[in-house]
Amino acid sequence: MIEITNLDKYYGSHHVLKGINLSIQKGEVVVIIGPSGSGKSTLLRCMNYLEPIQSGQIMIENEPIGMIEHNGKQREMPQKNLNKMREKVGMVFQNFNLFPHLSVRDNITLSPLTLGKMNKNTANKTAYSLLAKVGLADRATAFPDQLSGGQKQRVAIARALAMKPHVMLFDEPTSALDPELIGEVLDAMKELAKEGMTMIVVTHEMGFAKEMADRVVVMDQGQIIEAGTPGVIFTNPAQERTKVFLHKVL
Ligand code: ADP
Ligand code: MG
Repeated sequence: MIEITNLDKYYGSHHVLKGINLSIQKGEVVVIIGPSGSGKSTLLRCMNYLEPIQSGQIMIENEPIGMIEHNGKQREMPQKNLNKMREKVGMVFQNFNLFPHLSVRDNITLSPLTLGKMNKNTANKTAYSLLAKVGLADRATAFPDQLSGGQKQRVAIARALAMKPHVMLFDEPTSALDPELIGEVLDAMKELAKEGMTMIVVTHEMGFAKEMADRVVVMDQGQIIEAGTPGVIFTNPAQERTKVFLHKVL
């Protein structure tokens, strides 16, 4: 599904991702953990083409993605192809990023409609069925500021799913939530995982990682320092830095 080889990413002279290699199989749930500033968000943003990379390659379903930067210039794939690639990769952010002036339903139908992926009737039907799936069938006409954080994040998940992505990226989806609202978002993510969605999840929710991850990837200072099953990473990690990190979060 995703093949990342020798990926390097700089912000100016700051070397943020250093030789990342990672392959992700269809249907896999991969949880990425690691200290703040280790490059987790940047790695997700590169996978969703939100950031250019300076060297290496990212392949999604055997197609290379376009934003390679050379001598300060981006060599991009044509916008049309880029949009197509982006449709395959859904993303959910820490701060929901809902459009405040649009109803819940219209947040969900906006992209499928503007990208011409669905007609209005189909888009609305899709929105209602996705809202039912995340337990918000009765909130279609509400506006984001009428929702709790947990509800907003479930709308954000439904919105990403409306594009029928092949893979979903989650960047600390519960970090902005009050503790009592975290469970409802994790439950929606668990449902998705059980349906076979390929998921890459950056989270500090170690319970989710233990229960749902096929693989836990540990990042530190721009590198993947180790990866393994939750059983191995949480009980017998190979790297001292992993032990130190887990000691702080567990
Ligand atoms: P994490 O998600 O693991 O906390 P990030 O990917 O956000 O880490 O950040 C990795 C490094 O890149 C940090 O040192 C951060 O300060 C830096 N960084 C992140 N985004 C930018 C940006 N837009 N411009 C410059 N530096 C950035
Ligand atoms: Mg981050």
